[in-house]
Amino acid sequence: MSKIKMTTPLVEMDGDEMTRIIWKMIKDILLVPYVDLKTEYYDLGLENRNETDDRVTVESAEATKKYGVAVKCATITPNAARMTEYNLKEMWKSPNGTIRAILDGTVFRAPILVKGITPYIPTWTKPITIARHAYGDVYKNVEMRVDEGCKAELVCTDKDGNEKRELIYDFSGEPGIIQGLHNRDNSISSFARACFNYALDTKQDVWFATKDTISKKYDHRFKDIFQDIFDAEYKEKFEAAGIEYFYTLIDDAVARVIRSEGGYIWACKNYDGDVMSDMVATAYGSLAMMTSVLVSPDGIYEYEAAHGTVQRHYYKYLKGEKTSTNSVATIFAWSGALRKRGELDGLPELMKFADSLEKATIQTIEEGVMTGDLAALSSIENKRTVDTESFLKAVNERLVKLV
Ligand code: NAP
Ligand code: MG
Repeated sequence: MSKIKMTTPLVEMDGDEMTRIIWKMIKDILLVPYVDLKTEYYDLGLENRNETDDRVTVESAEATKKYGVAVKCATITPNAARMTEYNLKEMWKSPNGTIRAILDGTVFRAPILVKGITPYIPTWTKPITIARHAYGDVYKNVEMRVDEGCKAELVCTDKDGNEKRELIYDFSGEPGIIQGLHNRDNSISSFARACFNYALDTKQDVWFATKDTISKKYDHRFKDIFQDIFDAEYKEKFEAAGIEYFYTLIDDAVARVIRSEGGYIWACKNYDGDVMSDMVATAYGSLAMMTSVLVSPDGIYEYEAAHGTVQRHYYKYLKGEKTSTNSVATIFAWSGALRKRGELDGLPELMKFADSLEKATIQTIEEGVMTGDLAALSSIENKRTVDTESFLKAVNERLVKLV
């Protein structure tokens, strides 16, 4: 069998811990035997980020801008414990945060639904796609610890040097903390357009929510920008497509989401999207069944799994124990990226391979072969829990018949 050819390289961002182990297994077992893989490789593993003073992360994002499609493995975001574990020069920032800031994109996350797994919220019969604004707010914050006796002010200097000041807090009695956030009108506009375009593509309603009653300037700006863009550019297209744009307060949105049946795009500010996507993923079954794609306003795509590096499983793996780590979202990151590459380069065979890979993966689970996280949830009879590598081999047994 001759391998499927690629023309443009895919930007490959390797990562950390258990997902780094899975990454190599997926390539060896499911990709390299079928596709003449053409990737430009960037090692975003924490050791290499530390060695390159995190330049590798920036370079991988620049390469993504150049080629248009990337696939990313989960990576460690360092904290105090990681500083000692990896002997780090600095507490490097979240690679995802860095990449999102450079691409100024929106992250769309949707669960992979399989027969036999009922969501924790059984009324959620359709997927809820979370669109997370991928720029600014607390992810690009500036923060300080403040000593007793300090007065903290918000100061803004205009082009002519005029200052506008507002008191944040007078710490005359005790020490404390402060934080400065920002966002940009352009980024919020791109976010709104990305959501409305994606809604038209997938024929789903858009829900958007902020805390505009409390944050009368900051959050209110998000609300106004969304409404203005919707009215000016999308209202008629939405009517023609039979879909709706719906704005409400974040508290109300959370309550309505729980009562809903799914099947819409929930546009979230950066922090809401970070938190709610974990809740929604868990409710649909497993974090490992959540796909994630970052889409920039100029049509650049970065695919990844929504979960992290599965640290606990990695420590078992290092001790030589077998793990049963779910590779489905990472497989779908690869299939999504390969399909998009095929679409952009006019390679129908590559697109068909991506479809077959997804089909084989779902078929494997629906035929009862799955990792432990899914076995705990699946109502299928005669299910069999397998280890990480055996699952990939079981997918390959089906894939070989589909390609
Ligand atoms: P995590 O890696 O997502 O894992 C949390 C727990 O969820 C695991 O211990 C495991 O539960 C379960 N789980 C997640 N993915 C799984 C999979 N594929 N198969 C089976 N079970 C899975 O989150 P974390 O432990 O909070 O974070 C670990 C590291 O990942 C951190 O350093 C963090 O910075 C990083 N992280 C990276 C990204 C990213 O790159 N996109 C996202 C989130 C976190 P059990 O242990 O109970 O089996
Ligand atoms: Mg999160």
